[in-house]
Amino acid sequence: MNTITFSRNIFIPVTDLCRNRCGYCSFRKEPDRAHLIHRSEALQLMDQGREAGCSEALFTLGESPGLVPGFQRMLRLAGAADLLDYIIELCELALDHGLLPHTNAGLLTEEDLIRLQPYNASMGLMLESLAFLPAHALSPGKRPDLRLDHIARAGRLQIPFTTGILVGIGESWQDRIESLQAIADLHRAFGHIQEVIIQPFDPKPGTALANSPRPEMDDLCRLVKTAREVLPSDIAIQVPPNLADPLPLVRAGASDLGGISPVTPDGINPERDWPREEELQIRLSGYDLKERLPVYPQFVERGWHGERTRALAASLAGDDGLRAKKYIF
Ligand code: SF4
Repeated sequence: MNTITFSRNIFIPVTDLCRNRCGYCSFRKEPDRAHLIHRSEALQLMDQGREAGCSEALFTLGESPGLVPGFQRMLRLAGAADLLDYIIELCELALDHGLLPHTNAGLLTEEDLIRLQPYNASMGLMLESLAFLPAHALSPGKRPDLRLDHIARAGRLQIPFTTGILVGIGESWQDRIESLQAIADLHRAFGHIQEVIIQPFDPKPGTALANSPRPEMDDLCRLVKTAREVLPSDIAIQVPPNLADPLPLVRAGASDLGGISPVTPDGINPERDWPREEELQIRLSGYDLKERLPVYPQFVERGWHGERTRALAASLAGDDGLRAKKYIF
C-alpha cells in the first residue's frame, strides 16, 4: 500500500506586514492594520498545538517587513529589538513545547539563514514561478532570480528545504515546466529539496486576481504527473487537501499533503477549512495515511536538520523516520 504523508502543525503568523504586494494575496496587511504576534499569543497557540499532538510550528511572515515604515515600532511594542532574534526566541519556545520549527520568512540573507538554521527542522520558500508575471509587478521580492538564489543559498548551507510553484497566477504551461526543471536542477546541485508544493491559486475577494479562475483539476493532475517525471524521485510532491480533492492528485503522483492543523486555520487561505484526518483516510482509502515530521527521514539520517532540533526530532520519530504513533506528551 502506498504511503501518503502529512505533518500535524500549527500556523504561527509572525507578522502580516510585507514589502511586496502580490496580486492574489489576502495575508498581507497595510501598515496601519498589520500585526506582529506577541509572545503571549504565540504561547497560547503552542499550548494548543502541544495538547493536540502537533509536531510542527510553521512560522510564516511577510517578506522583509523591516523595509516597511513603522515596523521598528511594532517590534518595540512586542518587546523585541531585532526580527531575527525574535523569530529565534519564538523557535526556542516552540521547541520547549515539543514543536519542531519550520520557518518561511521570505527572502533572507545568508547570515539570516545561518542564524535561523540551528533552530529549524527545515525551512521553506516558494519559487512560485520562473516567469516575470503581472501578479508580481509590485513585488520586488518575487523576482525569480532572487528566489533561485535563496534556494541555492539554503542548499549550500544544507538546510532541508520546501519549495513549490503557484499554479494559475498567469503563468503558461511552459513556465510551469521550466519552474519545476529549475527546482530539479537546484536539487541535483545541493540535494536539499525535500518536497515541492503544487499549490493551486485560490482567488480572494478584493485582490487584483479576484476574478481569475481556479486551475482545473485535469490541469492539476497533468501537472502533478509531469512534476513526478521532471523532479528527482527523492523529492516528494505535495498537494494541499483544503484547496483541491487530494485523491486524483495522489493517483497522479502526489505523495504528501503538507501541514494540516487541528488547531489553526490555513493562514494563507483561512476560508478553506482543513479536512479532518479521519475524512482524509476515508477519502484516500487504499493508501496508508501517515504522519511525518517537518523534516523528512533522509535529512534526519544525514543530520541536516538544525542542531537544536535534533533531540526532539529523535524523540518524535519512529523507526521509519516518520512520526511515532505514540505522542511523548
Ligand atoms: S510576499 Fe507573501 S505575504 Fe507578501 S504580498 Fe506576496 S504572498 Fe502576500
